[in-house]
Amino acid sequence: MIHLEFNSESENEGIARVVTAAYMMRFDPTVEEMADVKTAVSEAVTNCIVHAYETGEGRVILDISHEGRCMTITVEDFGVGIEDVEKAMEPMYTTKAEEERTGMGFSFMEAFMDKVEVISEPGRGTKVIMER
Ligand code: ATP
Ligand code: MG
Repeated sequence: MIHLEFNSESENEGIARVVTAAYMMRFDPTVEEMADVKTAVSEAVTNCIVHAYETGEGRVILDISHEGRCMTITVEDFGVGIEDVEKAMEPMYTTKAEEERTGMGFSFMEAFMDKVEVISEPGRGTKVIMER
């Protein structure tokens, strides 16, 4: 397993992707598998940066583990949290339409991963648990 903690600055989104890709090398993944998982991680981390800590910076934790060929990836923040998770996960739902957000982040995560679970509490933070 790997446990990575970083600040919610946009430069670190790329680091999260590279770390994910490096972790996956042990599975000898296809180009498509690699791209799918990197995209899902990128969407989750970007949400921490643009939504969770929109007024400043905060901690983001990326955890990756595996059992056999099944990976579990968790992206956690301690920011504003989500009032209604079910609604937030609907395709094209966004609270930042004015900033050219399309509201497709969670939909991509669900499309590219086998399982996506979101646990969130307003004022406390959000945890996205993904499997592939
Ligand atoms: P896109 O991902 O297409 O740029 P988006 O980020 O708005 O747009 P989603 O990633 O699907 O779309 O997220 C939907 C909504 O859920 C966001 O607009 C935001 O209100 C909320 N949200 C998502 N992740 C977080 C988070 N980590 N903390 C707080 N709110 C979040
Ligand atoms: Mg998003």
